[in-house]
Amino acid sequence: VNGIVQGVGFRPFVFNLATSLKLKGFVNNASNGVEIEIEGKDDQLEKFFFQLENNPPPLSEIQSFVKSKINVCNSKNFIIQPSEPNEAASTLISPDMSICKDCLKDIFDPENRRYLYPFTNCTNCGPRYTIIKSIPYDRPFTTMQPFKMCPNCQREYDDPRDRRFHAQPNACSTCGPKIWYEDNSAQIMTEDNLSSFTRLATDLNNGKMIAIKGIGGFHLCVDALNDSAVKILRSRKNREQKPLAIMVSSPDDINDIAHLTKNEMNLLTSAQKPIVLLEKNKRYNLAQSVAPDNNRIGVMLPYTPLHAILFKILQEKYPHIKALIMTSANISDEPIAIKNETARKKLSRIADHFLMHNRDILIRNDDSVAMEINSKTVFFRRSRGYSPKPIFLNDDASDVLAVGGELKNTICITKGNQAFLSQHIGDLENYEANLSFEKVTSHLGKIIEAKPNAVICDLHPEYFSTKWSLEQKQYPVFQAQHHHAHMASVMAEHHIHNNVMAIILDGSGFGYDGNIWGGEFLMGNLTTVERFAHFQYLPLAGGEKAIKNPWRTAVGWLYSIYGDRLPQLPFMEDQEISIIKHMIDKNLNSPLTSSCGRLFDCVSAMCGVRSNIAYEGQAAIELMQMVEHNNQYDSYAYEITYPEVTIKPILDAIIIDLNNGVNVSTIVGRFHQTIVQLLTDLAILAKRRYPINEIVLSGGVLQNEILLMGLMASLTNAGFKVYMNEKVPINDGGLSLGQAAIGRELLKQNLETVKYSIYK
Ligand SMILES: [Zn+2]
Ligand SMILES: [Zn+2]
Ligand SMILES: [Zn+2]
Repeated sequence: VNGIVQGVGFRPFVFNLATSLKLKGFVNNASNGVEIEIEGKDDQLEKFFFQLENNPPPLSEIQSFVKSKINVCNSKNFIIQPSEPNEAASTLISPDMSICKDCLKDIFDPENRRYLYPFTNCTNCGPRYTIIKSIPYDRPFTTMQPFKMCPNCQREYDDPRDRRFHAQPNACSTCGPKIWYEDNSAQIMTEDNLSSFTRLATDLNNGKMIAIKGIGGFHLCVDALNDSAVKILRSRKNREQKPLAIMVSSPDDINDIAHLTKNEMNLLTSAQKPIVLLEKNKRYNLAQSVAPDNNRIGVMLPYTPLHAILFKILQEKYPHIKALIMTSANISDEPIAIKNETARKKLSRIADHFLMHNRDILIRNDDSVAMEINSKTVFFRRSRGYSPKPIFLNDDASDVLAVGGELKNTICITKGNQAFLSQHIGDLENYEANLSFEKVTSHLGKIIEAKPNAVICDLHPEYFSTKWSLEQKQYPVFQAQHHHAHMASVMAEHHIHNNVMAIILDGSGFGYDGNIWGGEFLMGNLTTVERFAHFQYLPLAGGEKAIKNPWRTAVGWLYSIYGDRLPQLPFMEDQEISIIKHMIDKNLNSPLTSSCGRLFDCVSAMCGVRSNIAYEGQAAIELMQMVEHNNQYDSYAYEITYPEVTIKPILDAIIIDLNNGVNVSTIVGRFHQTIVQLLTDLAILAKRRYPINEIVLSGGVLQNEILLMGLMASLTNAGFKVYMNEKVPINDGGLSLGQAAIGRELLKQNLETVKYSIYK
C-alpha cells in the first residue's frame, strides 16, 4: 500500500482489522509504504480488502494498492513486524492534526485520567510536523523528548490494540507538558490546570487580551463580541482594518454569525480545521471592528485540546462569550511568535496575560485559510493541517528546491513523485521572515531527506528568495517567470504535461521584458511559454506607493489614456492630481504594468469604493462585494488590440455610467462581466491559432469568487476544459509548486532555461 501510510496508525489498523477477521500474516513498513502478507478464507479476505480501501485511518491517504497471490505460508497468527532502521527514511511526516472525537471524549470524561488535560492526543490526532526535529519520527527526535512517559502512557504506546500505539507525543498530566498562566512581566499567576483556564476565561470576560500558545505559534485572543477589546487588539497589533479570524466552539455557534453550506461545514469540521471564510448572515452579531467593510468572516473550530477546554470553561462561566478572536500573535507583518522567551519579549506590551506551556514549538505553522467556491476548496493559505503532506506528481524526476516568491512565500521541495509544499512563511520583507525562510528550508529538507539537484527561483532580481538562490553555489539555479510558475502550479496539481492556455490574473510579477506583469494570457508547457496576450501596459505612478493608494493608479491611468481631457470624477477631489500628472509626463518612477490587480484597484477608486488601502487586496475585495450575486449583468464593450487587451473602452463605459448616476453595484457587476467575457473571447481567438482545449486559471486576483466562478462557467460553456488550483493556494503561496514543476522538467530534458517568447 503506497501513499501516506506511515506514522498515521496504519499498521495497528491493519493488525486490528486482520485479527478481528481471524486472518493470519504480518504487516510492516516498507521503503515506499506498507507491506501486508495475509492469508485466510476468501470471503474474510474480501472483507479485509474492502475495509482497507474504504475505511483506512483518518490521517492516511492511499495512493496505490497492489495485490498479488503467493503460496500459503500457514502463519499461526497476525503480527506487526518491527521496522528496520533504514525504513524510517521514507516515512512521510504527517501534518499537525486537530483533536479527534475519541480524545475529546477522554478530556471531558471526569473519570478518565486525561480529564481536562490540554495535551491529550493519539495516533489519529495531535501535533507532528511542528515538534519534529529530525527523522526518524521517534520521540527522542521531537520536542517531546524531555518528557519521559509514565508506565500508563508507555503501556498504551506499546500496545498495538491501543489507540495510542506508537503515538510519539503521547502524554498525560503525570508525565507530559504542562500549562501555566502568567502576567506580562513573566510572573506566574497560576500553575494549576483548571484555575489557569478559569482565570483566562475571567480575563476574557473583562475585555483583556491574552496570548495563548498553541500548536504552530501564539495567538492573540479577545472576546469577539467586545468591540473595545477588539479595537485595543487592532491598535496594539498595528492592524487597522484587515479582517480578524474567530474561533467558535461548534458549528451551532455560527448561526448568529454566518451562512454555512454543506461543503463549508465539511471543510470547517475536517481533521485539518482550517479558517474558513464564510459569508456573514443577517444575524451577524460580532463586534463591528472584527471584519469591517467585509461581507465574509474567517471562522475556525477549536483544534487542540487546549482550545476545547477553554471553550468548555467559557460555556460554564461566561456563556455569552460565543466567539473569540484568534489571530497570529505578531506585530504587523512579522512571523508569528513560537518561543516562550520571544513571545514575552515581543508581546509583553501587546498582551495582558499569557497562557504558556512547556512543549516547544520547533517550527512555526500558521492557521490555514480556505474558502469554498463552486463546491471547490480554494486555498488562500495552506499551512497547519496540510503542510507537509505531499502533493503527488505524475512522474518521477530529480529532486529540486523551489523557493517561491516574495509575498505569501512558501517553498517546495520535491522527492521522487512527491512535492512537499512548506507551510506559509509569509512576506519576505523583514529580517525575521528571512530567518524563518531559511529555517523552514533546512528543516523541511532534513525531515524529508531530499537531495535537490537544482534551485528554482523567480525572475525578480530584488526578491529575497531570488538573491538567496543565486548565492547557493552548490546547485544550478533556474529562474522561472512569475506567471509561468502560477500556470505550472495548476499543471503540476492536475498532472498536465501537454500544451495549455493559461489565464493568470495577478497583482504583480516580474516579466521577461522587465515590466511588471499581472494580466497574462500565456500558452505553452513547463519548458516553453509564449506570452500570447496581456492587459494593456499602463504606468504605475510611484510604484509601490500606487499599490497602497489606488487613487494614484486611477489618476495615472486616466491621465495616460485621456491626457488633457482627463475626466473629473468625485474620487479625485482633494487628491494631488498635479503630482501624478507630473510623474507621468516626466516618466518619473512610473513603471509599466499589465497588472489585473491594479485594474481592479483603478476601478475601485473610480467608483469611490476605496482610494487608499490598509491591507493587500482591500480595494479589489470591497469592489467585488458590491456585486449582487443573483444578478445577471451585461458586459461593457471591449477591444483587443493585439497583443494588448485595451483598457480604454472599459474605462470609457464606466465613466459614462458614473456620470449618468448608474448605481455602483451595477457598474461593478458590469465590470466583472466584461473581464469574464473578454477573456473568454481571447481564449476563443487563441484557439483559432492553436488547437488547445485546456485552460488553467491561477493568480491572486482569482481569489475574487465572482471572477473565478464567472470565468469557470464562461470558459466551460465555450467548450474548454478548465483547471484551477485546488491543492495549493491560487495566490503566490502556490508559486513554489509551479517553480518546482518547471525545474524538474528542465532537468529531465537537460535544458538550461525555459524558452520564453512573445506572440508576433
Ligand atoms: Zn486522538
Ligand atoms: Zn503519562
Ligand atoms: Zn503572483
